[in-house]
Amino acid sequence: MYTVKALFFTLQGEGAHTGRPALFCRFSGCNLWSGLEKHRTHAICHFCDTDFRGVDGLGGGHFETADALADTLLNHWPDDTSPPFIVCTGGEPLLQLDQTLVDAMHQRGFEIAIETNGTLLPPTGIDWICVSPKGRANVVITQCDELKLVYPQPDSMPERFSHIQAKYYYLTPMADPHADDDITLYRDSITADTISYCLAHPRWRLNLQSHKIINIA
Ligand code: SF4
Repeated sequence: MYTVKALFFTLQGEGAHTGRPALFCRFSGCNLWSGLEKHRTHAICHFCDTDFRGVDGLGGGHFETADALADTLLNHWPDDTSPPFIVCTGGEPLLQLDQTLVDAMHQRGFEIAIETNGTLLPPTGIDWICVSPKGRANVVITQCDELKLVYPQPDSMPERFSHIQAKYYYLTPMADPHADDDITLYRDSITADTISYCLAHPRWRLNLQSHKIINIA
């Protein structure tokens, strides 16, 4: 059984695949926060801006088998000759994304990317792994394609992850999870500090959440 909050087709807004059309599968649930505001203050991850509870999003639901979910995902990809590209996110996708589902998606031609907090080991064969460490949580993935860190986090400063091998290293300025004005999202001192860190440590690049700037899902 797989529990999915939402399925939606849009542009990837962040990281090395920014601007690429992608099908997003948002799995329900996370191991670093319940998703309830009353638990936010004491959660390991307390700045989350994503609703990952339940199955009430667009295309969300319970899927009994990997084949049923993979078939549904393929039906969301436009009738086109390009190979389908899926981004598995959450919540924490590795609470549910198992080898059976990875194989079922690959059988249907999917290129599979995940966005994970890095606290759980992935099944084999995932094509693109983006690790985004949160708070004091222990990160067990030591090799990935993108290391994408929200900055600054006192318990997760970039130096803590210098041992992780990645093709790309990104810093994302921390945003207010309750902000209702995305236009001003990156005009603040946190963004200025993030830029300064990148300039002083050129391994790191600035990552902006472009989907918020252009106001798409
Ligand atoms: S790890 Fe990700 S999904 Fe989980 S609470 Fe933090 S930001 Fe939200």
